[in-house]
Amino acid sequence: CGIVGYTGPREAYPVIIKGLKRLEYRGYDSSGVALQNGGLNVYKKKGKVAELEESVVGKNLHAHVGIGHTRWATHGEPNDRNAHPHQSASGKLAMIHNGIIENYAQLKGELVKKGYTFKSDTDTEVLLNFIEEIKINNDCSLEEAIRIALKRVVGAYVILLLDEDNPDTIIAARKGSPLVIGVGKGEHFLGSDASPMLEYTKEVVYVNDYELAIIKPDELILKNLGNEKLTPYVQKLDIELAAIE
Ligand code: GLU
Repeated sequence: CGIVGYTGPREAYPVIIKGLKRLEYRGYDSSGVALQNGGLNVYKKKGKVAELEESVVGKNLHAHVGIGHTRWATHGEPNDRNAHPHQSASGKLAMIHNGIIENYAQLKGELVKKGYTFKSDTDTEVLLNFIEEIKINNDCSLEEAIRIALKRVVGAYVILLLDEDNPDTIIAARKGSPLVIGVGKGEHFLGSDASPMLEYTKEVVYVNDYELAIIKPDELILKNLGNEKLTPYVQKLDIELAAIE
């Protein structure tokens, strides 16, 4: 299971696919990507990353912002429908998640009472719609909705979200699952480890538990769940690409 993200001037899709392949060693059963190209385009597939690539031949993959996922199923069998990214009820948000939302059944019950239906059997889609419900109900920013939602969540997660209304931004949060942000010149990379970003930058920020990152091409804002800004601690990687290939 792994996550990759990119926002900047490059073509996002090849960066993401290459990154997902570097994370294959972690094990997975499905993969998928969400791309911002005048709206969210989501492609996902059971099986290897190579099968995802075959399934998108001829599709419009042109984008400068995107997220990618390899799934190790915990809630819902491995199939195309349960693969990530998931899209929210409105279709405006896309999210990938590694980890487990332990109280998803309770959250799902609350959402079902409000009329929500679900396209997958995953805990991830429940968290995503829980976040969207808070955003709509409180008329607040996505960032604020994520903070409120995560205070109710029991479990482990790293999540990356795309919002159709803020097409250059990726929002990320973690607790108990790894998240590395690569800092480039006018671009940022995200990964479960640093391997997806090694040829682009050696400057990385390791995100800690209960932190939220708002990532644009030329800006990285790090906050805690209390909405206080934190100073990102940028470390220099001493791994060479040759060492992992
Ligand atoms: N719990 C989520 C699912 O089953 C994420 C699994 C993962 O870590 O890949 O879809």
